Amino acid sequence: MALRGRAAIYARQSITREGSASLDVQVEACREAAARLKLDVVAELVEAPSTSGYSNRGRNRPKFRELLDLIRRGEVDCVVAYKTDRLSRGGGPGWAPRVDAFEAAGRDPDRAVATTDGWVSEFEIGIRSAMDREESKKTSDRMLAVRAREAKEGKPRIGGRRPYGYSRDMSEHVREEVERIEEAADRVLAGESMWSICTDWNKAGVPTVTGKAWTVQTLTSILTSPRIAGFRTHRGKVVGEGQWKRIIDEDRHDALVAALAPRESKPRKGRTYPLVGFLVCGKCGGPLRSLTRENGGRSYACRKGPGMGGCGGIRIQANGLEAYVRDLICGMLADPVTRAAMAELAPASTPGTTSDALTDLHLRRERLIDLYTDGDIDRATFRSRQARLDEQIRVAEVDQGNGPVALPAIPASFDELVAMWEASGIDFQRRLVEILIESVRVDSAESRRRAFDPSRLVVHFHA
Ligand SMILES: [Zn+2]
Repeated sequence: MALRGRAAIYARQSITREGSASLDVQVEACREAAARLKLDVVAELVEAPSTSGYSNRGRNRPKFRELLDLIRRGEVDCVVAYKTDRLSRGGGPGWAPRVDAFEAAGRDPDRAVATTDGWVSEFEIGIRSAMDREESKKTSDRMLAVRAREAKEGKPRIGGRRPYGYSRDMSEHVREEVERIEEAADRVLAGESMWSICTDWNKAGVPTVTGKAWTVQTLTSILTSPRIAGFRTHRGKVVGEGQWKRIIDEDRHDALVAALAPRESKPRKGRTYPLVGFLVCGKCGGPLRSLTRENGGRSYACRKGPGMGGCGGIRIQANGLEAYVRDLICGMLADPVTRAAMAELAPASTPGTTSDALTDLHLRRERLIDLYTDGDIDRATFRSRQARLDEQIRVAEVDQGNGPVALPAIPASFDELVAMWEASGIDFQRRLVEILIESVRVDSAESRRRAFDPSRLVVHFHA
């Protein structure tokens, strides 16, 4: 006996079209279509008519989500809908997630969707999902343009919750609330704490807009809002005067914002050791860990003791090591060969033949990195020689008509890279280290001198 396909019927009322078929009619037609296509109906998913209207269009369709789950779990082979647009347009959920779900479940894309007219081809599904994407992009672009224009004209942004102090359409003040805003402003500017104002109001039963208790956060957002000073904001910025009556004047607004500005928080004591996880003890092979002295001196060390498991035999000063690794990585990233190799990971790069001269330059550059890694030359020498070699390589590549492939997001010169490294923070630094370096072994120091000694390092690059 041949296996019959298992189908889910999906139906929902179209909001945007007049005279769309009732849900009963849709479901019945889908059942007939399934019978014609020799499908077993294993689920009938009927979306309840949306009551929330426009604001919720297209979102929050629980049955559609259920449908996606059924597809992903492999419990249905296909979906039957009344019309193809019942699965998308008119504010419905897009095609893309459903296409993805079928793809993930390994279904035949030409036998994944049917309507009362029969199977919908993969080709049509592709076109429809592209149209959906385009449409929703246009809709949101249009929406943004409308919002921006309204903001410029100073029209109030109506929607959601009523703003405290105003009627819903912002055409009128609410007298008791305006008095509360003035009271709170006076008290704050007299140095009272927000907390004590909220406590008083909650005791006295002063209502909020939502009916919940006053919190410092709620009151702060009211008092510092440009709206009560008569300003219209758009995307967090004041764009002009609003077409409504202000409650406090501009000077008071500025004073309140200053008084209620969040205090500058102390720099976070987070991770300050970018190389943790990449360093290996040259004596025991264990991981080097961070070690901060009481005087603030930072180092990486193989640590013994409870929970540490190391030999305690290796320690290296953090600043020198971090600068060294930074220069090494920025040097590699400035290297046209590395950049070309990285770009090649992405498609559409153009391979070219490398001349002998160019090969020679690249070899010299590799040796230069070796010299630096081995500690035979210092950083200044490395950098100046490298800059010279880079220039020669660039010229040679241009001569060949084989320019370096651009890595758009990453600057090309060593100095720019170092600047980016310093500016980008520890997480970014660790990602770059991860891409290029497998590990750095730290061997013991030959002398007791405190200066950073790169000859202790053995760098393992990713193959
Ligand atoms: Zn060790």
